[in-house]
Amino acid sequence: MAYAKLSGALLVQKGAPIAEAVSVPRVTAAPTTREGDGLLARHLKSLKLPTFLSQHQRLAQQFTSEGLDPSGYLLRLAEAELIERERQLIERRIKQARFPAVKNLDSFDFAAVPSLDKNRVLELARCEYIARQENVIAIGELGIGKTHIAIGLGMAACQKGLSVGFITAISLIRELLEARDEQRLLRLQRRLTGYKLLIIDELAYVPLTTAGAELLFDVVSQRYERGSTIITSNLPLEEWYEVFGSRQLASAVMDRLTHHVHILDMQGENYRLRQNKRPQSQRQGNGAGRGKRTEPGVGRG
Ligand code: ADP
Ligand code: MG
Repeated sequence: MAYAKLSGALLVQKGAPIAEAVSVPRVTAAPTTREGDGLLARHLKSLKLPTFLSQHQRLAQQFTSEGLDPSGYLLRLAEAELIERERQLIERRIKQARFPAVKNLDSFDFAAVPSLDKNRVLELARCEYIARQENVIAIGELGIGKTHIAIGLGMAACQKGLSVGFITAISLIRELLEARDEQRLLRLQRRLTGYKLLIIDELAYVPLTTAGAELLFDVVSQRYERGSTIITSNLPLEEWYEVFGSRQLASAVMDRLTHHVHILDMQGENYRLRQNKRPQSQRQGNGAGRGKRTEPGVGRG
């Protein structure tokens, strides 16, 4: 009440009573337990503390029945609120990334790709390269696991709360062309530049139109030293010229991408074909990590 009097006095001077200014419900008499619960629920909602709301009674009971020091009660509630917020942020990041499937590095069989340094990939999964705005280019034949690795790195970034976007090169160019035609290119470019990590999957040998190649170049140059980009391709860098249809444009793209880059050279046998050749009992993880698979609560294609 002392606070209400004090703030009331201060606000009277400014001519605005507190109840009108911020509409804080005032309790004049001690509330009954039910009134108190209702008010507390409303306050916790206004303060956007849903985990306080859902857990305070259970925790209070636990503290009472276990005779715990009540001074730890608020700390436990605050921790529960923070953990829940972090969980929701990660879930949101995974959803916003629009991965085509949920893949993790845990389910990647590194022995199948001897040219790929597992420690290097695990180091990348710590996401420090994103803080340094470095890029990753994964190169290898179809079915070697490039997309799997790219999603795994994307998931690792989401787990750190970073914003991630996943898109195939073809869809990206289609979206850019559509956005240009519909006069909303700037908005799309801003979104693409905003991701801490943008994954452009399957830059393959489909020659781009000049407009498509230029729009892709714009994305790469707008992201240069602002965010990290992962590109997967079945073509070695020397052959990217053919995709861009212009040596000048391809050099400009590669120049920006490879200034700070980690190249993942992935050589080996197509993973699925290799799995299919093996007897059922020897197949990796009984299919774990293979095909489109969505785990509950995360990622929607
Ligand atoms: P790419 O993008 O190189 O064409 P993908 O990443 O799409 O290949 O791999 C094809 C399928 O095989 C996916 O379901 C992927 O999860 C799986 N796969 C590929 N390589 C591996 C591996 N080394 N360990 C586990 N799964 C793999
Ligand atoms: Mg792929």
